[in-house]
Amino acid sequence: MTARILYVEDNPQNMRLVRKILRSAGYEVLEATEGLVGVSVAAREVPDLILMDINLPDITGLEATTRLKASPRLSWIPVIAVTANAMHGDRENCLAAGCDGYLSKPVMKNELLQIVATFLSQAPTAATNNSHST
Ligand code: MN
Repeated sequence: MTARILYVEDNPQNMRLVRKILRSAGYEVLEATEGLVGVSVAAREVPDLILMDINLPDITGLEATTRLKASPRLSWIPVIAVTANAMHGDRENCLAAGCDGYLSKPVMKNELLQIVATFLSQAPTAATNNSHST
């Protein structure tokens, strides 16, 4: 079955680029442009993986990730932070918030596809997560 990836991103150009890359690789792309919407789309659709921008118009991507990881039903979904913020400690903040991975902007096609494939191959799917306890 085609993997479904949710991208939470408020920048239309980044959204367009990532959508194009992921679709061309055969993934189904779900989209949200705000953090709270992203959390509710994740709860409704239970995607296989989430790409999370950090700077969003409402809550930050870190807060959205914290909310997702607080839900036993959603916490297994890998969350990859996507951010241009290269300040020292940024990666650590993402991981502390519960992000499983970290991808720097500008998004590079090969880098994106590699990290997505890596996490999808490790993660349980929505259909098999019943026995997953973390
Ligand atoms: Mn943003």
